[in-house]
Amino acid sequence: MAIEALSRLRTQAFIDGRFTDAASGKTFSTENPATGAVLAEVAAGDTADVDAAVRAARRAFEDGRWSRLAPAARKTVLLRFADLVEANAEELATLDALEAGKPITDCRDIDLPDTVKTFRWYAEAIDKVFDAVAPTGPDALGLIVREPIGVVGAVVPWNFPLLMAAWKMAPALASGNSMIVKPSRLTSLSAIRMAELASEAGLPDGVLNVVPGSGSEAGQALGRHMDVDMVTFTGSTEVGRQFLHYAAESNLKEITLECGGKSPQLVLAEPPDLDIVAEQVLFAALVNQGENCSSGSRLIVHESVHEALVERLVSGLAAWTVGDPLAPGTRIGPMIERPHLDKVLGYIDAGRREGARVVSGGGRVLEETGGYFVAPTIFDGVTNDMSIAREEIFGPVLSMIPFASEDEGLRLANETAYGLAASVYTRDLDTAFRVARALRAGVVGVNAYSEGDITTPFGGYKQSGFGGRDKGLEAFEQYTEKKTIWVTLR
Ligand code: NDP
Repeated sequence: MAIEALSRLRTQAFIDGRFTDAASGKTFSTENPATGAVLAEVAAGDTADVDAAVRAARRAFEDGRWSRLAPAARKTVLLRFADLVEANAEELATLDALEAGKPITDCRDIDLPDTVKTFRWYAEAIDKVFDAVAPTGPDALGLIVREPIGVVGAVVPWNFPLLMAAWKMAPALASGNSMIVKPSRLTSLSAIRMAELASEAGLPDGVLNVVPGSGSEAGQALGRHMDVDMVTFTGSTEVGRQFLHYAAESNLKEITLECGGKSPQLVLAEPPDLDIVAEQVLFAALVNQGENCSSGSRLIVHESVHEALVERLVSGLAAWTVGDPLAPGTRIGPMIERPHLDKVLGYIDAGRREGARVVSGGGRVLEETGGYFVAPTIFDGVTNDMSIAREEIFGPVLSMIPFASEDEGLRLANETAYGLAASVYTRDLDTAFRVARALRAGVVGVNAYSEGDITTPFGGYKQSGFGGRDKGLEAFEQYTEKKTIWVTLR
């Protein structure tokens, strides 16, 4: 399948319903992080290409062929799009596995089904959401209606290339907007293919444009564009902050940010079955090789169960095979690129230097492949002031922080600049609810690691998010303006 997916590869920008080279003629290389080999040369979009895409998106929005279509008609097209994504799932999964180094089984079993579900769910939802009538007296009729916001820029990361784009595309398109998607320069291929499938499904030209290119050029051009009405961003907190500057320095476009995390997994004194806890903890820390915004990278564990849990975690690592992402047994692929590998190894060194103890892993593996693999790594004896406890590593590294009382555990869990996700493990229902309420995070899993599903909103407290939520009906809030229509009755 890898060869087949590559033989059909599209590498140009998709603007106004057509594939096109970058106006500058420039390209950039995308590589396979499992081998270090170049996969393809992709159009390097910049300001000129973003301008062209915004013009096409604005034209499409104004002509109303999508924006003023009845919701039920938009639903039909989006359901067809979902069917096409499903029909091409193997190809799309392979593109993400090759470019992002994600295990193919995760791409097939998680990313693709979730992407299809996302499109189906928003397609089905859009003709079932109602506007509101204000409780006026008999002299007036106050309608509160939602309208699509207009031209939406979506800037997305490389860790879930397809799914992160889908979380933006599905509610934004269902609401009637036009879009320009800027994928990460490390993973452009599946987004480009998606634009082609959307067009095949009947999305009018100009409604969905994909401009590959670097963040500093294409991303910034979208953020600063005077005719983009909003940007929805997923990525690091640092770059998210840039988008607030871009908006402030341009047209005050709306900005929503889904940013980084350093999510705690809080295991209290009386946890459920420790085998299950260990399995969940490892999944939270290692899925997607830890390159996951909601990664449960801090394990805050009561001293009474600490030793027993360490034992189970170490033996549970046997199930986490590191290797070729295209091999069916692989659960941990390579880090996305060489600089990221160096960053993750740098954190592992810092953990050792700052006095934490490596219980397992602790270095690069499979170097002979040319890929950027890191052994799943568990640190014990971590304290909250160490860099491995404070900063987002975005790799397969778990930091164990022991504690003695529930108050202390909760304080340690909340002592972070981030607030994306958290988990609490306890057999006591009252404690579970009390602690779930007290954790300062957008999603709290009880006795499991979970981001919820498409029906529930996803986003962060504190420096993990700003301005809106992905998923759930709440996502429609991001992509619509509210208008009051006031009718005076005589
Ligand atoms: P980055 O913030 O580096 O990049 C995200 C996107 O922003 C990319 O498309 C990137 O382009 C673009 N970008 C980079 N610099 C700029 C700039 N100066 N101006 C405009 N756009 C720019 O994040 P990563 O791609 O490295 O992804 C990892 C991060 O994403 C982690 O911090 C993770 O926590 C977060 N994330 C958050 C999620 C959430 O839902 N909260 C989900 C998934 C990831 P390019 O890379 O092409 O240069």
